Amino acid sequence: MLRSEAIVDLAAIRANVETLRSGTEAELMAVVKADGYGHGLVPAARAALAGGARWLGVAMIEEALALRAAGIREPVLAWLWTRQETDELRLAVDAGIDLTVSSTAALETVLATAAESATPARLHLKIDTGLSRNGATPADWPALVTAAGRAAAEGTVDIIGIWSHLVSADVPDHPTTKSQIEVFTEALDIAAALGVRPQIRHLANSAATVTEPAAHFDLVRTGVAIYGLSPVPERGDFGLVPAMTLRSHLANVKRVPGGTGVSYGHDYLTDRDTTLALVPLGYADGIARNATNLGPVSIGGRRYRISGRVAMDQFVVDVGDAAVSEGDEVILFGPGTAGEPTAQDWADALDTIHFEIVTRIGARVPRTYRGLDQVWADDSKPASTR
Ligand SMILES: *Cc1c(COP(=O)(O)O)cnc(C)c1O
Repeated sequence: MLRSEAIVDLAAIRANVETLRSGTEAELMAVVKADGYGHGLVPAARAALAGGARWLGVAMIEEALALRAAGIREPVLAWLWTRQETDELRLAVDAGIDLTVSSTAALETVLATAAESATPARLHLKIDTGLSRNGATPADWPALVTAAGRAAAEGTVDIIGIWSHLVSADVPDHPTTKSQIEVFTEALDIAAALGVRPQIRHLANSAATVTEPAAHFDLVRTGVAIYGLSPVPERGDFGLVPAMTLRSHLANVKRVPGGTGVSYGHDYLTDRDTTLALVPLGYADGIARNATNLGPVSIGGRRYRISGRVAMDQFVVDVGDAAVSEGDEVILFGPGTAGEPTAQDWADALDTIHFEIVTRIGARVPRTYRGLDQVWADDSKPASTR
């Protein structure tokens, strides 16, 4: 058995995709960037496809290429790249990866790459409707659409989509969402007037998928929700089931007297004779150092907090007089069904969001998979990754 592991329930990811699809007429893109939000890129992608996702979305080109290398043929959109990545762009075009273009400069780079490729580059033009990250401003939009339309007429590119990203979809009925839908619709009208009418218009993330049908268009890009984390926690769980359980086992257990200082700097002092339990996970594994004296854990079905500083490889828990032994299981977070903390509980304790809790689990923690049979038809199934 493993010392520590992130157990990923692929059947939950599959079911979450089915749940999300039942709430929209649009196709679903499963966002599997950042190693599937820490759940494993290829297993998460396979589980989502088994649940009926038709598209996969990633940030970086190498993430898209890794999906292709695993034999996944479905459409994949990559949305964050730089002009330096000429080799990667070439591989992406050859592999039929859909690429986002936000500027005429980026378009020129893609055109130079596509000119050397036998296949047209597949493009999604991005309009900045207010987030001010990627995307052409409304002022620059007509020039980008015109240049892309010309390249499409020459056969160098296929314009597959037009898209944008929301600012505050996690706050239902936020006025910014409404104004972004308006700017997006205007951008679609301008493109149509310039002869560019792609089939796939997309705007919604997970939060808008569960709360804002007016943002669904042809495709919704769901990330956090497919992993079972509520995109709008104040509104409940939307029937989603958290897919990841992070667990370890106690490496040391001992009795100490009251007044014992614990871990670096002695930021925790025992207030009575008590039992200290040592957990072999630290900030190198993605347990944030600011979880010191805060992070919730479950041992033997009881909840505790981390006692003292989180170190690189380990932290301590004061379990009082509970009967615990070396080798006992400790659960940091899971679906919460057995009383264990959830990723949401960790996010609340650390004043962050559950996205960060699951995504930053480090490479030293093996991912092991449940529900593989529901996801993999052939026998290339991994028992675990890393
Ligand atoms: C990460 C990301 C998503 C998915 O967002 P969730 O809130 O996790 O659903 C969608 N679109 C873009 C552009 C993203 O970067």
